[in-house]
Amino acid sequence: LLSKLKDPSLVIDKALIAGEWVATSDSGKTFDVTNPANGDVIATLPDMNRAETARAIDAAYKAQKIWAAKTGKERAGVLRKLYELMVANADDLATILTMEMGKPLAEAKGEILYGASYVEWFGEEAKRVYGDTIPGHQPDKRIIVIKQPIGVVAAITPWNFPNAMLARKMAPAVAAGCAMISKPAAETPLSALSLALLAERAGVPAGIFNVVTSKDSSSIGKEFTENDKVRKLTFTGSTNVGKILMRQGADQIMKLGLELGGNAPFIVFDDADLDAAVEGAMVSKYRNNGQTCVCANRLYVQAGVYDAFAEKLAAKVSAMKVGDGFEAGVNAGPLITRAAVDKVEEHISDAVSKGAKVATGGKPHEKGGLFFEPTILTGVTTDMLVAREETFGPVAPLFKFETEEQVIEMANNTEFGLASYFYSKDMSKIFRVAEALEYGMVGINTGLISTEVAPFGGIKQSGQGREGSKYGIEDYIEIKYMCLSI
Ligand code: ADP
Repeated sequence: LLSKLKDPSLVIDKALIAGEWVATSDSGKTFDVTNPANGDVIATLPDMNRAETARAIDAAYKAQKIWAAKTGKERAGVLRKLYELMVANADDLATILTMEMGKPLAEAKGEILYGASYVEWFGEEAKRVYGDTIPGHQPDKRIIVIKQPIGVVAAITPWNFPNAMLARKMAPAVAAGCAMISKPAAETPLSALSLALLAERAGVPAGIFNVVTSKDSSSIGKEFTENDKVRKLTFTGSTNVGKILMRQGADQIMKLGLELGGNAPFIVFDDADLDAAVEGAMVSKYRNNGQTCVCANRLYVQAGVYDAFAEKLAAKVSAMKVGDGFEAGVNAGPLITRAAVDKVEEHISDAVSKGAKVATGGKPHEKGGLFFEPTILTGVTTDMLVAREETFGPVAPLFKFETEEQVIEMANNTEFGLASYFYSKDMSKIFRVAEALEYGMVGINTGLISTEVAPFGGIKQSGQGREGSKYGIEDYIEIKYMCLSI
């Protein structure tokens, strides 16, 4: 790994606690980070627990008060510097990301720039945390609303976007004047650590951004939710773990930002531009090898274009190149773990046993390991597992539908409500369908909806809170009003 980098110091095998890079855990335990493309161990990290986490929280608690007292412009300056460092080091950060997570290098670079865009955006927003004045309710009363940072924020992030999922939590927190203790997924901690190093170089003060490395996520989650210095927990991951954290946080009425699972419908109406819909399905379904919470999970295609769509999509999907993310031209890397491969196989065999057909792919790739063939299933029906559960892999199940009413009912028939997509050229249908879909995000004639300027987030069991846009910083702010009698 080191030989591939311009700046090898970006690969770090230590945690960042209270401004110190810590090489060993209190227990002396460690864990390995492996490259999912070949199983090689690329780093060994200290496996920390509650005591180290509590030390980081104490440091964050002290440092936050000093950080919050700075002007928005000062905090903006530091984030601007961090943004520039991320862009300048994007190739190295992408290499580290591909090495620990497996996605193709070009996608990894895209993720770094996407993560950096949140740092740039929230740095700019740091100067615009405006309050309000409200006409008094009595002649002698003046009412002033101010916005203040929540305080110490804990963050738990997943492996599928090891840089961007953390950057879009850390940036608004730091911009608002909060301090953060983060616990990256044990599969992909290196990207978080290199981000923390760049933050340190950019001038983020000691204690403001901590990274606890640990394999024991449930212990760290308990410290995060039970330590009363922590005022907010922001989490991106599965709905099940989100529920556990919400229950744990209930005792201290912890504020929660939750970006949880999705089960995105992708609807193609008869009047759609079919080629555009196929392009959209490719990026929405197969980006990151199907391992994003906004990936199309259920593709609903209207009867009049079903066969044509399936054929065009199959032509593209069967031409995808599967392999190590460092190989030129690869557009699907390995899946993250054996368990991920097992889930994909289970979803396919369940569908096939209930009558679905494999149009392309359908089995582990001949390269072995964690590689899997990009797959399309046709003749999929609502009684199959793929209709209800997030596959989180390269499988596109194609359902056939007849009417708008029917597809909206099927699309909404899930406890999830994160992303949704549809293709149509009819303006009134576009508004009708967009308003009827019970989702936090709707892509219309596009399969790619993520940007720092828009509010990312879900409804129903897909979570609460929004990341990005002018709304994103609100998640790290408390409102206080002063009632003044003159
Ligand atoms: P994924 O399917 O993406 O692995 P998880 O929800 O299991 O989704 O993991 C997302 C993050 O949550 C990871 O950082 C993981 O270590 C962490 N995590 C998993 N279980 C718990 C838990 N009980 N408490 C706190 N964090 C957890």
